[in-house]
Formats: sequence, structure tokens, C-alpha cells
Amino acid sequence: MKKITKIALSLILVIAMMLTVACTVVGGDNTGTSSGSQSQTGTNSGSQSQTGSNSQTGSNGSQNPSTQESIVTIDFYVMNDLHGMIEDSDTQPGVDEFTTYMFERYADTAAHEVLLSSGDMWQGSVESSSNKGALMTEWMNYVGFEAMTLGNHEYDWGGDAIVENAKNAEFPFLGINILVDGEPAPYCQPSVILERGGVKIGVIGAMGDVLSSISGEFTDDLYFVKGAELTLAVQKEAARLRNDENCDIVVYSLHEGFEDGYDTILSNKNSGRGYVDIVFEGHSHSRYKKIDEYGVYHIQGGGYNQAISYARFVVDRVNDSVRIQNPGYLTNNVYSSSTLTDDPIVDTLMDKYFPDSDPYNDILGYNRTYRSENAIVSKVAQLYLEKGLEFWGDDYQIVLGGGYLNTRKPYDLDAGNLTYADIFTILPFDNDLILGKIKGSDLTRNFIEKSTYTNAINGNLCDNIVSTQYYYIVVDSYTAFYSWNNITIVDRIPGLYARDLLSDFVAENGWA
Ligand SMILES: [Zn+2]
Repeated sequence: MKKITKIALSLILVIAMMLTVACTVVGGDNTGTSSGSQSQTGTNSGSQSQTGSNSQTGSNGSQNPSTQESIVTIDFYVMNDLHGMIEDSDTQPGVDEFTTYMFERYADTAAHEVLLSSGDMWQGSVESSSNKGALMTEWMNYVGFEAMTLGNHEYDWGGDAIVENAKNAEFPFLGINILVDGEPAPYCQPSVILERGGVKIGVIGAMGDVLSSISGEFTDDLYFVKGAELTLAVQKEAARLRNDENCDIVVYSLHEGFEDGYDTILSNKNSGRGYVDIVFEGHSHSRYKKIDEYGVYHIQGGGYNQAISYARFVVDRVNDSVRIQNPGYLTNNVYSSSTLTDDPIVDTLMDKYFPDSDPYNDILGYNRTYRSENAIVSKVAQLYLEKGLEFWGDDYQIVLGGGYLNTRKPYDLDAGNLTYADIFTILPFDNDLILGKIKGSDLTRNFIEKSTYTNAINGNLCDNIVSTQYYYIVVDSYTAFYSWNNITIVDRIPGLYARDLLSDFVAENGWA
């Protein structure tokens, strides 16, 4: 069997990450009832201060500062892209120490805390994915998340799983730009208002421009408002929160990070203060603290519990000022340090969801040598072809198995015994096996010549592809539903995923 293996960086994902929401800054004025101008100073190098009048009429303006704290300190902790990593592993800490860390912060009465998520919390580990995020949602309730912006991977099991988790979550899901059948998604809301020490905080959440990162079979009714339209919606919501709801602080939690493209910055040029005070981002798993031309910080805390975003807001109610101190990210040696005791919640949830110990950690078989991502997806492509031939080979001449295949962190497999959990972690996607029909010209262009696809060819059947003829291939549902590929779906095996094929293969005789 001739195999063509062409692995490169997953182009589609990279493109999705790099797509930035297009720019429109609408002048406008969000000062509303604000009693004065605001000035903002500070540089990228350290702490930033926002000074000037921030007082507003309404309930806040009429409050007597003497009856409450005159200076209110609020610490924001924002987790993104945890990807279900609840348990300690070789590559990242679990969330038990972080839970202890947050409870210690809550116990400190000198400051107030707000814990948020910028999305992609559920999918990724067998412990979380096997219950579609239910376990993770319970943990988020326990540790006190106040809101979660939905990420693209929250859609990995379709919208139904989000609806289910929304029923159990004691905090709202946010997504100002998520439309289902043209209407705002019923399972999330544009923003939430919180209060700490008499300070009102508006939190706006948005999905980025990441529709193509969701399997096409779940996106028929789904649309994420983007570009100038999204900018406008966020500006409007921020103005409403400040002017109608008298929020002192407006925070923006955006699943897709802007990285280097700050085109869409939400500025109010009249006052010099952004429509939002800070942006917490996610999706690319990068760590950064950047400041845009309007002085608004953009922070992302990596992913997989390696780091979390952090910023302290100091609200001076007497002098009507809001300052941001120490914006940036905390690495897990701070919040998961060995000096922190393990909160029992992880063990409690594991016992609840996996009462008969964790069957996923039974040894399947022995892997003789180190396997790179390339080696793993080449094997998966071959297993696709073999399974396809077994299921459909009598009725269809299948020429190829494979498609857009990649692994997730830690991406590769070391030599030694393998468990289902090991294989699940690198192949977490719930993508069904599909028999597809494709025109020869598309087969050549979209598969055989596509460097980001990994293919296993059936004998020499791909040697002389006729561009006008149709062919049968075996791919996963992400590849099959990706509209650019022009695949007609002929049949599918529901519930059979790449990780299952590889696990069965390893369990049979090990990986020699
Ligand atoms: Zn994402």
C-alpha cells in the first residue's frame, strides 16, 4: 500500500486563529451621563493608570461613599482554553490547586475577586469530553465562575450539549454575536452585570470569527456576527452598561484573541477611554499582554492551565477614578504551586462520574517507539481506509482514507504502555467516519495535493485520477462537512472516532 503523508501545520486552524475581526471604530460618545472627561496614561511596560472622572449619575452617583468602601479593589482572574484538563498530568497541573488558590483569594477580605472564562473549557480530556462538559461545569460552579464566554469547542457536540450544560451552570454563558437561525442564541446572553463592594461591573462576551473551526454539520443554523458589525454591537452594549446600568467597569471577554491585529479596538475617541476597559482573550493558546492604541489592554493566559489572565482594578469612589494594576497573566507556578493543598473537588467529581475507578486508564497495549504527530495521523489515515474497506468496500471502490487529521497536546506518544486516556487526549475529536463521494478534480486539489491533509491511498487507485469522474473516499465528519472540499456524504458510522480506531488497533497487538 502506497501512503502519501503530507503533514504541515494545520492551515485551516491557523487561518481561523489569525483571522481578526475587521476594523471599524465608530466615533460616538459613550460618556452619556458621565460627569467629566477621562484621561488615560500608561505604557505597555507596566501598570497602567486610568484617571479622571468616571462618576455617573443614577444609582452609583447617588450612593454615599461613606456607607461603603471608598477604594474598592477588584481582582479579575480569567481562564481560557482549559480543554478539560481537570486532572494532573505530565504536561499540566489539574485544577485542584487552582481551586484552593481561588478559595484563599476569596477569604482575603482586602480585595474582591471576579473569576471568568473566555471559552474552550470542556473539550479535550476523556474525563470532560466523555460527559460533554457536565463534569467541568460542576467544577466551574464549585470554584465560583461568574460567566463563561462560549468558545468554538463548546460546539464540538453541537448546540444540544451547550443547552444541557446551561441548565446546570450557576453562571451565564456569554456570546453577544452568536445567532441561531438568525436570532440570538437562547443558551447565552450578551453580557452580565456583577457587583463587588458597591462597584458595578459589566462583562460582555463574544465568540470570535471561528465558525470554520466548528464541524460543518453543526453550523447550518449557526452564525457568529463579526467585523464591523460585532464592533458596533459591543460598543452599543458597553454604552448601555455604562449609561443605563451605571457600570463602573466594563470588561470584554472574547474567545478569539486579536494577537497582533487590534483593528477592532473599541475606542471612544472623545473621552480617550475605550468602550471597554480591558479585553480578556483566548483560542490561540498564546500568552500575551498587549496594549492597543487606545490604551486598552488585551491579555491571554495561554491554555491548558499553563497560565491565566489577571488584572487588578482599583476604583476610587471619592476621587472618581479607575486604575488598572498589574495586568498580565499568572503562570501556574503561582496558582498551582506545590505549597497549595489539593482541593478535594477533583477527586469528588471523578468518583461521581467514574465510580468504578477510571476505566480509561486501563492499559490497552504496548507502543514500541516514540510516535510523532505525523506518525500518528498517518496511522489514523490508514485505519480510516481499512475500516472503510471493511464497511463499504464490497459496494464502493474506495480510493483513499484520510483528510484533515491532527493531534492535540501533547501531540505525540512516547514509547511504553498506552491507555485509552492517552489516545483520547491527543485525538479528542468526536468526528464520525464518513463515506464520501468526490469529483476527481476536487480529489486531486483538496486531498492528494493538499499539504495539510494526510492520506492513505488504496493501492494505485489514485495514480490516474480523471478530473470529471467521481470517486469514493473515507474521511472524518469535519473534513466531510468542510464545504470547500465539495464532498457528498454517502454514508457514515456514527460514534466511531479516530481515537477508537487507534485504540482498537493498539489493543489488538500493541503498536509494533
Ligand atoms: Zn477556540
